[in-house]
Amino acid sequence: MRPSATIARRHVCSILPRPVLHLPIRTLFSAPTIKTPPRPLPRSVSLPLSFTSTYSTTTTTTMSSPVITLKRTGAKMPAIGFGTWKVPNEQAADTVYNAIKAGYRLFDGAADYGNEKECGDGIRRAIQDGIVTREEIWVTTKIWNSFHKREHLLEVAKHQSSLWGLDYIDLLLVHFPCTLEHIPIATRFPPGWHGLDGQCHPVRNIPYQETWGAMEELVDSGLAKNIGISNVSGSLLNDILSYAKYDPQVNQVEIHPYLTQEGLIELCKYHGIAITAYCSFGPASWAELNMHGHVESLFEHQSIKSVAQEVGKTEAQVLLRWALQQGLAVIPKSNNPIRLAQNFQVSQFELTEAQMKAISALNRNYRMNDPQSIHISLGIFS
Ligand code: NAD
Repeated sequence: MRPSATIARRHVCSILPRPVLHLPIRTLFSAPTIKTPPRPLPRSVSLPLSFTSTYSTTTTTTMSSPVITLKRTGAKMPAIGFGTWKVPNEQAADTVYNAIKAGYRLFDGAADYGNEKECGDGIRRAIQDGIVTREEIWVTTKIWNSFHKREHLLEVAKHQSSLWGLDYIDLLLVHFPCTLEHIPIATRFPPGWHGLDGQCHPVRNIPYQETWGAMEELVDSGLAKNIGISNVSGSLLNDILSYAKYDPQVNQVEIHPYLTQEGLIELCKYHGIAITAYCSFGPASWAELNMHGHVESLFEHQSIKSVAQEVGKTEAQVLLRWALQQGLAVIPKSNNPIRLAQNFQVSQFELTEAQMKAISALNRNYRMNDPQSIHISLGIFS
């Protein structure tokens, strides 16, 4: 069993506003040390995907999963991925392995989730068993707030890539546009929101331009095939575009029917930046932490239930389809094998325009994930 302090700490990764948390700190969380370079991966079996139809100019549907073509590299990012936040370490390898068997090819991780090594183990096992090749897998992971300084970012990206053990990262994101005091990898990894004294220590001396420049270096060195941003809104996005050598290819943001973010979606589409929507089920992920602000479950909402009944699908499938049909990628997470498989089966039906509108009408600009709940100066959405 994992100590509860660990669970609590990890869950602040993608915080929720209310109430402000004072979480216990785990003093030592040492990432496994990789002593040898990752060994070459077997490339024995190839399962080619066939892409058959399109529902937007950049999104193509496969027999099993849609893909989104990224602008700079032309890389085909699976539009249905598996989110790994709160997948317990002891289950992560098996969960990822079984998700691959269920058809998932994209895994969304982060330093902050503390399970990158175990997720990588599951992927490498699937490769060794000939279920997929490395090239068919897409690993997304994220740089934490305390590594925004150039030298820290370059160091932690290398460390994270070695945890995955897959030679390179397909998509590397900057997790949040806010900066925290650096905690060395050897002292505590992942570091979380709070310093060694249990307090949150934002710093204000690292411009995003420096961080983005380091991300671009990782493209040039080959560690990251694609780079992107997360939790970035319009004004910062426009600023990044003013100095970027490589434009961000993906912006990963919270989007669900209570927070539809149409303006941001339009802005990103205008610039050719793909969007990955996280927390597609709105409060569900936060309810299990008792951090959902007691907003009504989307699974129980009459509008979602009606649409689900009309199309003969589950409420979860309707919520994922609603995002996909807007050209967004989704990364639902489930530790339940049946739900995990169902969540992947969302590319073979369509919602009508009226159904799409009825779901979007639930918008109330309700954000679950706002770092300002941790510290007033982290008001990235203020
Ligand atoms: P989610 O919207 O995927 O919801 C997960 C919750 O829904 C869990 O409680 C799960 O038990 C439940 N669930 C899953 N499938 C279900 C089904 N078919 N029926 C009923 N209940 C179901 O929320 P999430 O995990 O917070 O977000 C998805 C992923 O997005 C994360 O795992 C992570 O990879 C990523 N993420 C990124 C950020 C960021 O800041 N970039 C923040 C949060 C999450």
